Amino acid sequence: MDLPFIEPFKTKMVEPVYRSTRLEREKWISEASYNLFNLRSDRVTIDLLTDSGTGAMSDSQWAALMQGDESYAGASSYYNLKNAIKEITGFNYFLPTHQGRAAENVLFSVLVKEGDLVPGNSHFDTTKGHIEFRKAEAVDCTIDIAYDFKAQHPFKGNVDLNKLENVLKKNPREKISCIIVTITNNTAGGQPVSMANLKGIRQLADRYGIRVILDSARFAENAWFIKTREEGYANKSIREIALEMFSYADGMTMSSKKDAIVNMGGFIGFREEDLFKKASMFNIIFEGFLTYGGMAGRDMNALARGLYEGTDFEYLSSRIRQVGLLGATMKECGIPVLEPFGGHAIFIDALDFLHAVPQEEFPAQTLAVELYIEGGIRGTEIGALMADRDPVTRENRFTGRDLVRLAVPRRVYSDNHMDYVAAVAKNVFERRESIKRGLRIREEAPILRHFTVELERL
Ligand SMILES: *Cc1c(COP(=O)(O)O)cnc(C)c1O
Repeated sequence: MDLPFIEPFKTKMVEPVYRSTRLEREKWISEASYNLFNLRSDRVTIDLLTDSGTGAMSDSQWAALMQGDESYAGASSYYNLKNAIKEITGFNYFLPTHQGRAAENVLFSVLVKEGDLVPGNSHFDTTKGHIEFRKAEAVDCTIDIAYDFKAQHPFKGNVDLNKLENVLKKNPREKISCIIVTITNNTAGGQPVSMANLKGIRQLADRYGIRVILDSARFAENAWFIKTREEGYANKSIREIALEMFSYADGMTMSSKKDAIVNMGGFIGFREEDLFKKASMFNIIFEGFLTYGGMAGRDMNALARGLYEGTDFEYLSSRIRQVGLLGATMKECGIPVLEPFGGHAIFIDALDFLHAVPQEEFPAQTLAVELYIEGGIRGTEIGALMADRDPVTRENRFTGRDLVRLAVPRRVYSDNHMDYVAAVAKNVFERRESIKRGLRIREEAPILRHFTVELERL
């Protein structure tokens, strides 16, 4: 008999899962203005709001934490991290930042100016926020098939090279800040980008003299998909694949809270010394001195370990398998989920699930609220609320994509927890016809409004 798959880790420390009643949850979500970001975490049973900074560190990472060097300048922890980054990404220069968006802030302070264009695959919300904050424009060049929720394509996160070339052709070179490729493409559903696509982007970028930056939060999951789906990579290790991916880029931003399995941290990787030097000034202003930049020494130490653990094939297989298990169970219940399943999350198509709720009433947010009320699950809306208003017309951006994302924290929940989540979703699915009205905005911020928006029920 073939032995079943097992997780390559076991549990040393546990924390409670909080239970509550439907009545309590109805009261709490109303007090939270129907915004799940406003909920206290001890009022959530299974927290799938994000996989960012919510992973469980290993005993080895905790040990590394104890050995952190808190020297202001030249800490050994900095060098540990520098060596790990060099080994895993190949980049010679790096700047530590307190998280991914801080890396964007520092790098874009050098690269992005008013009126610029920043083409790429669907930009992450903070990336887009930092671009639009500088009065530049993020141009989405993702392949069209990414928007067909059921279409099977192994690399749905890919950049459409024709769309990209059109942007590069039609605009003067000075107007293009850089090309940003997000691996994996979170906004498109945690979908990977193929190595062939990264190569193609590099060739175009060289032809037009533009830099390529990888938004690398989930680079290890992307490498896993390349290994398991792309011809010629089955026998390569995750680290070999990651090195090749980064070889097609001029730099990277990293939210270490994702694939590096730490609770806080980020960095920028650079190939050119000149760009590194320019960015260094902004790092000192915004983050901290060059050898800690927003991170404690102990956190840099744990991050260095996390980069190795996060690029272990067995670990990645256990994680992506668990996400797939949640997706498959929900699909069996008839729930409309985005396919193929992403690396870090399952996405529910709320326009299909709650087809009676008009898009102006935010069906995905409505569904996220229903999942909470039904079973204390906290997911997040990736739809019209998150899309913000158009910076010029100030109209809501209804793109035909209104999703609820259930993001699975790393090494935290069991398969039983996933079965519970699927059962909760099934219960809501069975009463979906009774949900006819959604939510209305009471108050919102001009940018990244989904974090703080206040809503009321219609
Ligand atoms: C999380 C994330 C960011 C932002 O990183 P933070 O650590 O949350 O600031 C940027 N890009 C991608 C693709 C991400 O997933």
